[in-house]
Amino acid sequence: MTDVSTTDEPTTPKFSELNLHPLVLKAVEAQGYETPTPIQAATIPALTDGRDVIGLAQTGTGKTAAFALPALSHLAEAGRANDGPFALVLTPTRELAIQVAEAFTSYATNLDDFSVLPIYGGQSYGPQLAGLKRGAQVVVGTPGRVIDHLKKGSLKLGSLQHLILDEADEMLKMGFAEDIEEIFSQSGDSRQVALFSATMPTSIHRLTGKYLNNPEEVRVASKSQTGANIRQRYFMVQHSHKLDALTRILEVEEYEGIIMFVRTKQATEELAEKLRARGFKASAINGDIPQQARERTIDMLREGKIDILVATDVAARGLDVERISLVVNYDIPHDTESYVHRIGRTGRAGRSGEAILFVTPREQRLLGSIERATKQKVEPLTMPSVEQLTNTRVEKFTKRIDDVLATTDLTELSAVIEGYELSRDVPAATVAAALASLVLESNSLKAEPMPEPARGKPVRDRDGGRDGGRKERGPRQRDENMTTYRLAVGRNERLQPGAVVGAIANEGGITSKQIGHIDIRSNHTLVDLPKDLDPSVLRKLSHTEIQGRPIDIRPDSGRPGRPFKKRNFDKQPGDDRNFRGDRRGGKKFGGGGRGGSDRPRDRY
Ligand code: AMP
Repeated sequence: MTDVSTTDEPTTPKFSELNLHPLVLKAVEAQGYETPTPIQAATIPALTDGRDVIGLAQTGTGKTAAFALPALSHLAEAGRANDGPFALVLTPTRELAIQVAEAFTSYATNLDDFSVLPIYGGQSYGPQLAGLKRGAQVVVGTPGRVIDHLKKGSLKLGSLQHLILDEADEMLKMGFAEDIEEIFSQSGDSRQVALFSATMPTSIHRLTGKYLNNPEEVRVASKSQTGANIRQRYFMVQHSHKLDALTRILEVEEYEGIIMFVRTKQATEELAEKLRARGFKASAINGDIPQQARERTIDMLREGKIDILVATDVAARGLDVERISLVVNYDIPHDTESYVHRIGRTGRAGRSGEAILFVTPREQRLLGSIERATKQKVEPLTMPSVEQLTNTRVEKFTKRIDDVLATTDLTELSAVIEGYELSRDVPAATVAAALASLVLESNSLKAEPMPEPARGKPVRDRDGGRDGGRKERGPRQRDENMTTYRLAVGRNERLQPGAVVGAIANEGGITSKQIGHIDIRSNHTLVDLPKDLDPSVLRKLSHTEIQGRPIDIRPDSGRPGRPFKKRNFDKQPGDDRNFRGDRRGGKKFGGGGRGGSDRPRDRY
């Protein structure tokens, strides 16, 4: 097992030292990544060397590039495979399959004729069959659908060089163990395996022991200490709402100097520009800016000529400016130690400091890792209310008026206004309001409410796993186009929303977007599905099991515990699209849950 720790040391390798193919390296540089993340620095050399690798990493650590870059480097050297894909990536869900496929596309922009194909349950077979026939070099799929294509003969693994398992623990939780073993057996001995997982339950050890060849095991160590003089808060927010949230927070927070951390060089420039457009004095520093220019910018922050420095980790190395009273992690860091280094930029010279962390729903686990590693609680930040914001704006404007009155001789201008007041017969307050609107470039100081998140309210739900924030629990919102169904499994079976989505989407052959509110109760679960659902979907779902228990799906009567008359879904006419059928007499999905060997550990 290799334990890797961190980023801020001068020994962090460069991407150019990781043996990547020049065409792949060029694409990485174009992405604006400055240095490899710890998991990348540790796994890429082993993978480019041809070794099997087990990587303990979760979303946000840069794991996708860790497996994609070596596979693409080999592909760039070897050229197109003859009989089926060069690389196969298995992911637990459709969403992740699409995301991984997009990442491959971005890292392969300089490779000729490159194509990647996501394949997953819920999408019709036509486009997938056509894509496979055309010959994608990389296929990214959910295990159930991959197996279906192997059975149909539409996917062949004869030329497979890379088999990658992403979020392996999630796939096992969702009941894909059998499918994964089948894929391992069909993929031949010469393929290289990379298995990434956030946790290491015994089921994964068993799998890796059986199918991996002397693997290099890598995890990011997390021994870190944060200063007790720094107050740490987080805010759960969709990526697209970060800027809005940030400007609202800055309106009410007291601060002197701020440093904001983002992931890429381009992002430093973009965010600084957006902040300037909103009236903040902000500048960017990143690894592309020459050292002297960077130092000039840092001096400007020190002297109060600017208030906000937007930086990458590399550019902010060793930065020591007493005036920094707030650190904003606009993008969550890839590892715990980076977090500790970042927030250590405030609270210098015995002063107290503030640290704010933005977390997207998918990154919730990283937040847990940070808290465990630093042994400190990160408190939720409450977004200022519309009223608070409005009051603050009025207060600040009032203070501006006070300041001018206290420091400026206004005799001459007062005479002009007095003349105006008399000649136009307009009250002085109205004249002042007209002038205020000129200064403010607006006729109101009222704040608008924050836009609603795209789906669900951002909620902190540690048990929510990969669906965190997406499927909101709690009070139900009625949707006329949905019908509520009841499943005979619930919290007693340690059921999680991810397992419900996985089971219904993959077995029912519908997209996870069609699945509405999920409400997990102690011995049953309520789930909203479209009213016009094809009866064949319910027929397929009537065979599904979660945690070895039939889900026994049926419309909810609204009265808990009342016995139902069982609907006979098997008798519905008109379904000839049951590709999966009763393959194994009903697919089994695991519920996962708190505790046990699947509990996330102190690392990422
Ligand atoms: P992942 O853990 O693969 O979901 O990646 C999380 C995010 O980090 C993605 O937005 C990547 O584009 C980004 N990322 C990956 N590697 C790096 C790197 N070396 N430097 C900066 N950002 C990165």
